[in-house]
Amino acid sequence: MSQADSGRRAGIGFHCPQDNCTGTVEFDLEAAPSEEFQAVCPVCHRAYALNPALRGKLERMMRLINAIRDAEDLLADCTVSVTTAAGEVRIPYAMLLTRLNTRLKLDIGGKPVDIHLLVEPSSPETFR
Ligand SMILES: [Zn+2]
Repeated sequence: MSQADSGRRAGIGFHCPQDNCTGTVEFDLEAAPSEEFQAVCPVCHRAYALNPALRGKLERMMRLINAIRDAEDLLADCTVSVTTAAGEVRIPYAMLLTRLNTRLKLDIGGKPVDIHLLVEPSSPETFR
């Protein structure tokens, strides 16, 4: 975990599960593996600590994202073939990565909560 590269961010967020709260709790994925880390709702100011299992998952997620970013130039030339009724379609792998929309299901105080991963494309010119 030492990829302090060029301000690229991977964030994570979920709707605050407090009753009647409309806040979205968002935080930087890089910060999540720390034991002292707490995410705070900007509306009701409730603090959420992450349990070790979730911290481990988020840390591995961060490593996966960094590995994908490292391999971006290799992946730029790769395509994924999909057979459709109209024939074979070749989708650039880099384009698939921009559609990476990861959700984790969590249980917070007995309520199911969807966590959304928000990954910024590392180099916008790759994804036109
Ligand atoms: Zn809240």
